[in-house]
Amino acid sequence: GSLLTARDLRKAYGPTTALDGADFSVHPGEVVAVMGPSGSGKSTLLHCLAGIVTPDSGSITYDGRELTAMNDARRSALRRTDFGFVFQFGQLVPELTCAENVALPLRLNGTPRKEAAATALDFMRRLEVDDLAAKRPGEVSGGQGQRVAVARALVTTPRVLFADEPTGALDSLNGERVMELLTEAARATHAAVVLVTHEARVAAYSDREIVVRDGRSRDMERAV
Ligand code: ADP
Ligand code: ADP
Repeated sequence: GSLLTARDLRKAYGPTTALDGADFSVHPGEVVAVMGPSGSGKSTLLHCLAGIVTPDSGSITYDGRELTAMNDARRSALRRTDFGFVFQFGQLVPELTCAENVALPLRLNGTPRKEAAATALDFMRRLEVDDLAAKRPGEVSGGQGQRVAVARALVTTPRVLFADEPTGALDSLNGERVMELLTEAARATHAAVVLVTHEARVAAYSDREIVVRDGRSRDMERAV
């Protein structure tokens, strides 16, 4: 069955309708691309699914539990244990080394330092950034920084990785490299991926595409 399901989501910001009856589902381990033009409601949909934004109405079910019925504390606990996040930029802590950045979520959940460091290195190898372990984010390229961010998002082995325009600040070659390694690492660790993008070549890494237009979503049959 479906791991994460949303039905008839509605969300308005004052007079602006961001979601106007959006549906969504992702199965365990599935990679779903959420596509659509700028302002169509993609980010709002992702933020609702991730429990960051509360919809005005509609339901979101994660692993048999109603996300919209949980209190804030339970929802943030769930985010820490079950979800991972990658954004377009600005997410690495500049004062920490890349290895410390990747190990950070494990340290925050109480994993002992040595174990956290070993797991972090394992994920840095998967994303082919293990040679950058001692560098600070300011000393690595945009593509390398995004791969470090993906390693950090997956280090806790989340069941869902949310990625909002993860290649938006990269040239197409680096963007495709990030997508290739992101999807490989997600598949190896059985994480589902909810990928927001407006680029067809990025969405091509998904199993399925959902198109959002004016706050409404529909499933696309991909012409292969
Ligand atoms: P997309 O990700 O497809 O660009 P968004 O979900 O960011 O679309 O935005 C959908 C609509 O909601 C847009 O008209 C946007 O301006 C508006 N919107 C999104 N977030 C906010 C917010 N925090 N406050 C006011 N309006 C917002
Ligand atoms: P990638 O293909 O992974 O994006 P680049 O070819 O852009 O890497 O960069 C090659 C090397 O140059 C990197 O190993 C990195 O150390 C350095 N570098 C690239 N961009 C920057 C930057 N903005 N700031 C500091 N160092 C950089």
